[in-house]
Amino acid sequence: MASRRNFLKLSALTGALFAVNKSKAAEVIKHHSATSTKPIVLSTWRFGLEANKGAWEILNKGGRALDAVEAGVKITEADPRERSVGLGGRPDRDGRVTLDACIMDENMNIGSVACLEHIVHPISVARAVMEKTPHVMLVGDGALQFALSNGFKKEKLLTPESEAEWKEWLKKSEYKPQANIENHDTIGMIAMDTSGNLSGACTTSGLAFKMHGRVGDSPIIGAGLYVDNEVGAATATGHGEEVVRIAGCHTVIELMRQGLSPEEACKKAVERIIYATKRRNKSLNELQIGFLAINKKGEHGSFCLQKGFNYAVHSPEINNQLMDAKSLM
Ligand code: ASP
Repeated sequence: MASRRNFLKLSALTGALFAVNKSKAAEVIKHHSATSTKPIVLSTWRFGLEANKGAWEILNKGGRALDAVEAGVKITEADPRERSVGLGGRPDRDGRVTLDACIMDENMNIGSVACLEHIVHPISVARAVMEKTPHVMLVGDGALQFALSNGFKKEKLLTPESEAEWKEWLKKSEYKPQANIENHDTIGMIAMDTSGNLSGACTTSGLAFKMHGRVGDSPIIGAGLYVDNEVGAATATGHGEEVVRIAGCHTVIELMRQGLSPEEACKKAVERIIYATKRRNKSLNELQIGFLAINKKGEHGSFCLQKGFNYAVHSPEINNQLMDAKSLM
């Protein structure tokens, strides 16, 4: 958890970063960016390692990036040990597990579901919204009814472990977002296939013990995920309210379109979060945001607000490795 001392350090560092000579900053960042040949898959957090394996099976056989990202994040969704995504995800403050997910392909097709209950694979429902409806987003009961009518099974997502944690939480019922504390996370996955096409998927149970009906950035195209096949793909994790506030992943893509490297673009987006937080006279103390991006050349990079965000990369050169994102503190 970030301490007050860290926060002061962050403020000083942010000032210094803004003051630093532009070309020098670009040089340092370039030094840390990585380039890989196709195909490649990147995903957020340690659980991305398992998810990447599923995606890689498809990419390595010449499959489509869209199929790879869906298959990849489904691994995390189905794993009850991962308590911030899909089955076994932590519930809201009413004890209901509500899931958010979205998907985007190389042709600007998008699909999304939010506040969806009882379905283990919200990412596949999002894909069905994309492929079978004239709409881009379904929420709540409408999303559930749509899923059921398309053959998805109704299941209990609240595991005994998540239920016990929720009951413990109820004793105090304190809602306190915390940075890098394992009560929320998202699997965001972006991939480029052998044809050079990009796609992305993003899925989460959102912030633990959120208000019922709360939706974060993860199912919002442009916030938790964005893909432009001519430019690149980006995904986000962390406090969704802050990512939505700056249209995070769309910002990253537009910065890459202007020529910034993926890492530079992610860093600038983090700086936008700092700007928005300061404008509102709010504290950065407990916030964590991580952005992850790839461009059309296969260069990839990441940046987060506070130290602690990592991501998994699988490509012909990088054999499914976890990498630490650079941070402003
Ligand atoms: N972005 C997610 C949300 O706000 C949570 C996370 O990635 O930690 O719902």
